[in-house]
Amino acid sequence: MTEQTTADLQAKDAVIADLATGQPRPHDAVGQRSDSDLHQIVVVGGGAAGLELATKLGDTFGRRLEAAVTLVDRTRSHLWKPLLHEVAAGSMDVDEHELDYLAQAHWHHFRYRYGEMVGLDRVKKEVILAPTFDEDGREITARRSFRYDTLVIAIGSVVNDFGTPGVKEHAIALDQTHQAVRFNRRLVNACIRAHAQKGPVLPGQLHVAIIGAGATGTELSAELHRTARAVIAYGLDRVDPEKDIKITLIEAADRILPGLPPRVSAAAMGLLRNLGVEVRTGARVSEVQADGVRLTDGGFIPAELVVWAAGVKGPDILRELGLELSRSNQLVVLPTLQTTRDPDIFAIGDCAWCSRPGHDGPVPPRAQAAHQQASHLRAQIRRRLKGQPLSSFVYKDFGSLVSFGEYSTVGNLMGFLAGKNMMIEGWFARLMYRSLYKMHERALHGTARTTLTSIARALTRRTEPRVKLH
Ligand SMILES: Cc1cc2nc3c(=O)[nH]c(=O)nc-3n(C[C@H](O)[C@H](O)[C@H](O)COP(=O)(O)OP(=O)(O)OC[C@H]3O[C@@H](n4cnc5c(N)ncnc54)[C@H](O)[C@@H]3O)c2cc1C
Repeated sequence: MTEQTTADLQAKDAVIADLATGQPRPHDAVGQRSDSDLHQIVVVGGGAAGLELATKLGDTFGRRLEAAVTLVDRTRSHLWKPLLHEVAAGSMDVDEHELDYLAQAHWHHFRYRYGEMVGLDRVKKEVILAPTFDEDGREITARRSFRYDTLVIAIGSVVNDFGTPGVKEHAIALDQTHQAVRFNRRLVNACIRAHAQKGPVLPGQLHVAIIGAGATGTELSAELHRTARAVIAYGLDRVDPEKDIKITLIEAADRILPGLPPRVSAAAMGLLRNLGVEVRTGARVSEVQADGVRLTDGGFIPAELVVWAAGVKGPDILRELGLELSRSNQLVVLPTLQTTRDPDIFAIGDCAWCSRPGHDGPVPPRAQAAHQQASHLRAQIRRRLKGQPLSSFVYKDFGSLVSFGEYSTVGNLMGFLAGKNMMIEGWFARLMYRSLYKMHERALHGTARTTLTSIARALTRRTEPRVKLH
């Protein structure tokens, strides 16, 4: 039996045992070595950071039976979060890009455990998961816990509504795939409703307000501009996109993309203006209502659909763990990515607050930071297993790119060409933007499979509508 086949059987064995009992399998088939003898690495959160890490750890320590690697996630499948605005706008089909955790675990020699982390027992070194239920309320998995020797928390971030009234009730956030899908369904419903109704389109109907002009809000406004028109072009001809559809981007700062250099903001602003997106800078939201957005200056922006994309913070569960938190509710970590109060617990990605020597702010909550931290931590875990001292994480900012879908891409590359920051725009910027996702896919699947999937997607795209219609 080859090493690959053996490991495959073990992974399958683990999956079957866990689905049935929720417990780690008691015994390994090969070498008669008990699983509990192995160093237990538990990664909670299978996003941009956690899934890359679990895959790399599985491919090395898991495959060679040097450690047992377990990934916990509250969902069953992974979609790279920066794609969510495309899902919301309808230009991306989730099914084409989603990755099943069970399959990934099976192929990469780690275990996947379904459930939401609701607590930690740091004395017993156990992660506690809530029970899970199906749509009919039937229990799938009971409350359970998993022991760890090394724990990595990578549960991402949630949007920060700063306690603004009405956000939870009337606005949609783009934190999770199901929210993006829900927004898209509402958008298509709104177009169909407007087409089918007896009277004309009413004031405020088919208006979309996006609160927060960071990368997410700005990208969404451009993507929506195109896809709303595309939906209507499929025969909803009683709606006039130029007259009836209005997108308003609302930003409290004095310019859009306030985190990026002013030149990039100005270029992005020009693009949005050309598209007819209304941009309101210096505008603070006091309340989101069922029919629109109220501003602190008393102004009102009517809208049928409202998206909240203004800022992120650490998920609430982090408050329950007894670990040090930043003001934005993230886990404070040392340069080694270990949490300050527990050296056996690491945090990476959006949920970690990691200082950046020589910079005012911490490492930013971005996919490139998640990717770099996952790579760094894999090397650290190797050192940890060998009893060697850990080294510090240093974030390399390669710049930021903002996609305007098929219209354009703008951004800045850092340290590019002899250490100078450079603004880029157009197809080259688009290529660079896409390469970030390809990098994530390569980390999960390797180069050959990433290339094949890209070709397959390019082919199917030619035979399907360019926008999601249901
Ligand atoms: C619309 C949008 C566009 C973006 N565009 C860009 C971009 O262009 N470039 C860029 O660099 N960054 C971008 N970002 C930011 C980027 O997506 C994040 O920085 C990155 O995904 C962070 O990775 P992460 O692994 O920390 O968290 P995530 O990728 O969010 O993954 C967190 C995982 O943890 C799981 N989880 C959460 N809570 C629990 C729990 N209690 N128990 C178990 N599992 C849990 C979730 O299901 C999820 O799988 C964008 C974000 C959004 C929303």
